[in-house]
Amino acid sequence: MRFLQILRKAAASTQNRLRVSPISGNRSFFSHQIHSQSLHSASFGIAFDIDGVILRGDTPIGGSPQALKRLYDDSGALRFPYVFLTNGGGVPESKRATELSKLLGVPILASQVIQGHSPFRQLMNRFENELIIAVGKGEPARVMSEYGFKNVLSIDEYASYFKHIDPLEQYKNWTNEQAGYQRSSSREVERKNDPCSQRVEAVFVVSDSVDWSRDIQVLCDILSTGGLPGREISSQPPLYFANDDLSYQGLFPTERLGMGAFRIALESIYNRVYPNSLEYTSYGKPNPSVFKNAENVLMQLPSTINHRVNEQYPFKTLYMIGDNPSVDINGAWKAGQPWFSILTRSGVFKGKDNHPIYPADMVVDTVEEAVDYILSRETFQPHY
Ligand SMILES: [Mg+2]
Repeated sequence: MRFLQILRKAAASTQNRLRVSPISGNRSFFSHQIHSQSLHSASFGIAFDIDGVILRGDTPIGGSPQALKRLYDDSGALRFPYVFLTNGGGVPESKRATELSKLLGVPILASQVIQGHSPFRQLMNRFENELIIAVGKGEPARVMSEYGFKNVLSIDEYASYFKHIDPLEQYKNWTNEQAGYQRSSSREVERKNDPCSQRVEAVFVVSDSVDWSRDIQVLCDILSTGGLPGREISSQPPLYFANDDLSYQGLFPTERLGMGAFRIALESIYNRVYPNSLEYTSYGKPNPSVFKNAENVLMQLPSTINHRVNEQYPFKTLYMIGDNPSVDINGAWKAGQPWFSILTRSGVFKGKDNHPIYPADMVVDTVEEAVDYILSRETFQPHY
């Protein structure tokens, strides 16, 4: 088992960094140690990235099912608090939790799934009854509806109301079928509003765009006209992205272009064509607010161990386990104390040593190694 420990955050490392030698793989040994610790308080939490750490596509990788099982007791109750902190999305958190539970064989709560678009929920009060457009793969409109937005259309459905808005539509055989299905699924919205004459008040890019050419065209129409395609140029409605990832590790051997790449394409075109520069807000890692929110969620999780050491610093250490240096590791570093970053070689990062620009506190091959390390370290760690 290979561990490369590289210290970067000296200040963060001094508080509770008890160095341990490479750990034993003996499960009963672990179980005993973990059980003993339950008499004390668990002062740590874990945030797992999903793609490239837990899953590749829909396939568990890096011993993730075994690793997660160690965070539960024999009765299946959550022993140590953890969340999934992913920039991905496109389905509601509750649905993703159910999918993950099936794939990984452990009970996962919706509250343990923090996706790139989860912060959009906080904008509900501002746009609750306004017409908003949700962009991306999966069920972007359902995601927003479940957050409480009451007048949401997917960009697929919205575009279907405007004849010839996509001049290439006739060449895209899949779009007719998709639009027909989605339109029938939201007849209630259709009855109440005529989307063509109603102003779009905000656009939310929930997940990766499926049809860049159509989406860039329609977004340019919406954003340049103040939310009324085909009308005069006017001030831009707010535009929100769930993340700004340039690339991600999918099933293809090399990385795929992500939402950040789509944002660059849209922004470059918009700024060349229209007089005003595109304005937008991006959420997701490495934004420190995402890590702060994860800490709050971890505090609320029901676990069999009381981890509220004190109100001001409930956790001594929060571990971020990720495969993407610029997103996961950079984000943990920006978030600062008490975050400790662990970089896996199971996804975007494939280097032998640490990453030169965004070095992690530790580099391991798999998530299983990371969890083994955390449990051994926290189990041996004296509690103050
Ligand atoms: Mg990843």
